[in-house]
Amino acid sequence: MLTDLTIAQAKAGLEAKQFSALELTEAHLHGIDTLNPRLNAFLTVTAEAAREQAKAADAAIGRGDIRALTGIPLAIKDLFCTQGVRTTAASRILDSFVPPYESTVTANLLADGAVFVGKTNLDEFAMGSSNMTSAFGPVENPWKRRQDQNAILVPGGSSGGSAAAVAARLAMGATGTDTGGSIRQPASFCGLVGVKPSYGRCSRWGVVAFASSLDHPGPFARTVEDSAILLGSMASHDPKDSTSADRPVPDYRAACRRGVAGLRIGIPREYRVDGMSAEIEALWQQGIDWLRAAGAEIVDVSLPHTKYGLATYYIVAPAEASSNLARYDGVRYGLRRDGAELSDMYGNTRAAGFGTEVQRRILIGTYVLSAGYYDAYYLRAQKVRALILRDFTEAFAQVDALLTPTAPSAAFAQGEKMDDPVQMYLNDLFTVGANLAGVPASSVPAGLDSNGLPLGLQIVGRPFDEETVFAVSAEIERAAGFSALPAIRAGV
Ligand code: GLN
Repeated sequence: MLTDLTIAQAKAGLEAKQFSALELTEAHLHGIDTLNPRLNAFLTVTAEAAREQAKAADAAIGRGDIRALTGIPLAIKDLFCTQGVRTTAASRILDSFVPPYESTVTANLLADGAVFVGKTNLDEFAMGSSNMTSAFGPVENPWKRRQDQNAILVPGGSSGGSAAAVAARLAMGATGTDTGGSIRQPASFCGLVGVKPSYGRCSRWGVVAFASSLDHPGPFARTVEDSAILLGSMASHDPKDSTSADRPVPDYRAACRRGVAGLRIGIPREYRVDGMSAEIEALWQQGIDWLRAAGAEIVDVSLPHTKYGLATYYIVAPAEASSNLARYDGVRYGLRRDGAELSDMYGNTRAAGFGTEVQRRILIGTYVLSAGYYDAYYLRAQKVRALILRDFTEAFAQVDALLTPTAPSAAFAQGEKMDDPVQMYLNDLFTVGANLAGVPASSVPAGLDSNGLPLGLQIVGRPFDEETVFAVSAEIERAAGFSALPAIRAGV
């Protein structure tokens, strides 16, 4: 099946002319036709544009002009602005927004020859961990519980559509964004590799902003090497994003082959939280044993401010969101609901356009930034954030990378954890630290739980040292030999 190939295999097959880019794209579009009505992974399918891009890729291959992603079908989270293609952030307030420009990350992918099959569903404005807050309905996780095939599981969030699309073989890779875990947690829930690079590695220009100091674009793929190929293309220095890093992009694919011999791997003791499931605990120990057997030295480390991570995140992220979302006022983008006065129009538009979770975040953010509470909440959270960053800096003086679980559980069912926002926020326990500190982190599928659902391990690295993250991720991948397949996938 063409849809089962990895990106690396498809590149080789295209180059050897075993199949055409158009055939490869058609195979994925067929999968989307068949499965998307059920999965709801794509909000917009760009079949005609994809065919044109695939034909252009075939012509380029014919000329010998083969780039990093020539002819490779990808899915794009609907938070990346795509020129002439509706971009919604899964919100009613943007449901008719067609950007006149292309985000830097997607422009980089297109310049490398990629084919875009469509725009994927997400939690509204990337706020969530389950894809349940999308204004366009939930996404179904293509994986099923062994004992309970009827339960519909969430793909995680916020990049749930991208994760479901890649897991179900509707695209060979996808873009996501990770503000508090939104690439790594859905990767873990869907049996994929997800990479959140260092802050500044991938430009945020043209990505609908949630929390600007925490937002990180990054890739989803089915293998570590594929994620390295994608990140190599997505990453660039971008003068249009003042926080973009002016650093050369290393050869991430080569880094996957480095091995871990001689590396020092830290195990942060504060991540052994009370009530952690025995399965997650056992998987983590397994990961430690794998790395030790491959020649790494395992070191106990401390990140003492870990316990403040979630509280800090859930102040800083809503604060920045309340500011970023002020621009949706009915004047410039998408939806408008008129009112007697201008202020009524603003209020009516925002009440009709934003869902409950987005409204909750705007309220929290406005509160923590308000004159009477700024010092008590926002300023204090910024100070704690500095301490969390210092924890990572001190740990990385002793070790080259950290190994932790990605998420406290496997995928849960739609409806579970929905009535209590705090329960939902706990999903991000292990992932928010890397966003607050801006350090690179991946999730790699490492095993199955007793229900047959995938579980991921997280690898965290020094700022801008994605190469070590890839090296360790590839070792976990080799040792785990993860080969289980989701129940719902193209060609089945
Ligand atoms: N689940 C977290 C939140 O709801 C993280 C989301 C994200 O990374 N975009 O804010």
